[in-house]
Amino acid sequence: MSRIAYVNGRYRPHRGAMIHVEDRGYQFADGVYEVCEVRAAHIIDERRHLARLTRSLAELRMGLPMPLSALSIILHETIRRNRVRDGIVYLQVTRGVARRDHAFPPPGTAPSIVVTARAHDHAKAEIVAAAGIAVITLADNRWARPDIKSVSLLPNILAKQAARDAGAREAWFIDARGFVTEGASSNAWIVTVDGDVVTRPADNSILNGIARAVVIDAIAAKGLRLTERPFTAAEAKAAREAFVTAASQIVQPVIRIDGKPVGDGRPGSLTTALRQEFHRHAEFT
Ligand code: PLP
Repeated sequence: MSRIAYVNGRYRPHRGAMIHVEDRGYQFADGVYEVCEVRAAHIIDERRHLARLTRSLAELRMGLPMPLSALSIILHETIRRNRVRDGIVYLQVTRGVARRDHAFPPPGTAPSIVVTARAHDHAKAEIVAAAGIAVITLADNRWARPDIKSVSLLPNILAKQAARDAGAREAWFIDARGFVTEGASSNAWIVTVDGDVVTRPADNSILNGIARAVVIDAIAAKGLRLTERPFTAAEAKAAREAFVTAASQIVQPVIRIDGKPVGDGRPGSLTTALRQEFHRHAEFT
């Protein structure tokens, strides 16, 4: 089956789906995006993703390109046309096409909107999660606004490749004070030996993850103790459990940090429970 992409009002064969060379997303990374999990052909936590999109756009001094109800129809239609049951749907909005000039284009310049959807191999994802992943740590060299879900991801992709090169699947950024900010494409968590679940507060230094919000709800429902505070890599290495969250992988156990096993070097029981219970706390649309 050939894939279909939504591009500026049209559903096109994915292979030939194009954006203009002077799109500001291409020229300047002047745009934002969202990635939502698709499960049983439903979007997971669409409302929260679209609220974050609205916020990211506002931070770039952009409005919504169309009402959220219309965006929602496009997301669902792209999933339907690609026959995705389990996977992701991707939405990108840029400031549009204009003669290359750093300052904003003339008022009325149409934003560019792209939506794609992709199935993932559910069984393979479960095998990865059952084994857990390794992470490396490296200096956080990003700009001061990682809370905006901008398509400007150069530090993130370099970090992810460094992880790959080291035989790991994720890289945790470390801030100037020695604290973990977040992963290259995920939020970072630990469970201390006392059973405290710890994650960094969602300030400007991290993306306020949607999966993070779901896990916070799951932790409250389980009656567990959550502390939102920064933690160091050393503390994470000495923790009982560690994990990352992201829409595309929900709750992913971390079993090694910089080559050092976390806990007994296997996915933690609390992490595994949070992964299993995740969708009970998520919204399906
Ligand atoms: N942090 C970064 C840098 C990310 O890129 C992502 C997701 O891609 C996350 C955190 C997790 O966010 P979410 O749970 O909304 O997918």
